[in-house]
Amino acid sequence: MTDRADVVVVGAGLAGACAALVLSRTRRVVVVEADGPAAGASGAAAGLANPFMGRAAKPAWRFDEALDALAKLAAEAGDGLFRQTGILRPATSGSQTERFRERAAAHADLEWLSPAASAERWPLVRAERGALVVRKGGSVDIPAFVGAALRRAEARGTAVARARLVGWEMGSSGIDAITDRGRILASHLVLALGDGARALPPLAGLPLHRVKGQTVRLGRPRGLPADHPAVAGAGYAVPSEAGVVVGSTFEHDFADAAPAPALDAELAAKGSALLPVLDGAPVLDRRAGVRLTIPTSVSSRRLPLAGPLPGHRGVWVLTGLGAKGLLTAPLIARRLPAALDGVVPMPTELWPLGRM
Ligand SMILES: Cc1cc2nc3c(=O)[nH]c(=O)nc-3n(C[C@H](O)[C@H](O)[C@H](O)COP(=O)(O)OP(=O)(O)OC[C@H]3O[C@@H](n4cnc5c(N)ncnc54)[C@H](O)[C@@H]3O)c2cc1C
Repeated sequence: MTDRADVVVVGAGLAGACAALVLSRTRRVVVVEADGPAAGASGAAAGLANPFMGRAAKPAWRFDEALDALAKLAAEAGDGLFRQTGILRPATSGSQTERFRERAAAHADLEWLSPAASAERWPLVRAERGALVVRKGGSVDIPAFVGAALRRAEARGTAVARARLVGWEMGSSGIDAITDRGRILASHLVLALGDGARALPPLAGLPLHRVKGQTVRLGRPRGLPADHPAVAGAGYAVPSEAGVVVGSTFEHDFADAAPAPALDAELAAKGSALLPVLDGAPVLDRRAGVRLTIPTSVSSRRLPLAGPLPGHRGVWVLTGLGAKGLLTAPLIARRLPAALDGVVPMPTELWPLGRM
């Protein structure tokens, strides 16, 4: 294994892959991944890039910058990875209809469709109370994006090593990253470990709440175009060539992170409630992962954590991407080189912890 680098990125999920892609433009990078690319939450995600999420369709943090960063990094990694199809959000109640109409009136990126207009434009979508069109939204096959970003970084000299980080030591000439396959000396260590953070004592005190989520991939019915917009209401359905990913569960109390076949029927029903044409579509596969969120008592907008680990010079943490990894990982990665060099700090909202 390579024994020297400018930066060691640990974790080849969405956060680590975006970081490696950006850093590989100018630095010698080694990516250390224990279980294979997108083995964690990134492998289970539906891949919605929705800048107006939640019941109230509130604009996401810095969503213009986030979408721009996503589009540029996806294009840098490969062709056609960010499918900018837009997202349809059928309203699920009278009060949500009102809220959506108000949002559409306030944001040029949104459009409100009455039930009749929605049925005419998107006849496959059940939207009896009308639908909000999120024009700049879309979807990304996250494992494909992670794979493409790593290949692009490798083409620039990045090494991707299958190894598990077990700790690090601070030395006079840098940080010694200790893995189960050897040591790597680097100026910076970027920890994008997802749920793996729990196993490293210096990170065990981070305020991370674990929420398991499961998705199923259904066979795409003939008649549902692969480039049909994703639909997000009570659940979501994301069509692509490979099928339709339907999600998701939010489990706050769980024994393990393995996908449960018993949840297939509940998830399939969420899909056909949005797109009745999915009724009876076969389940092709199911995936589960653990989202990490920051409690609102710590971060009022549940933003990710991205910053230098106090007391560990040169060690950075990128975690807590929650259910919005696509809107945060590229934005954070874009800012990482200048932040590591101490030229432009990360936005202070991304490290609300002070000294731990
Ligand atoms: C069911 C579900 C649906 C989702 N849907 C969406 C969605 O539609 N849109 C969206 O934007 N987000 C979605 N998300 C959230 C998104 O998946 C996450 O925000 C994002 O993938 C987190 O990426 P990450 O790189 O931080 O973590 P992970 O993907 O978990 O990556 C961490 C990596 O670190 C590796 N690792 C851990 N410990 C070590 C170690 N000691 N040494 C080496 N490697 C290690 C792991 O093997 C793993 O590959 C969803 C999540 C779930 C679970």
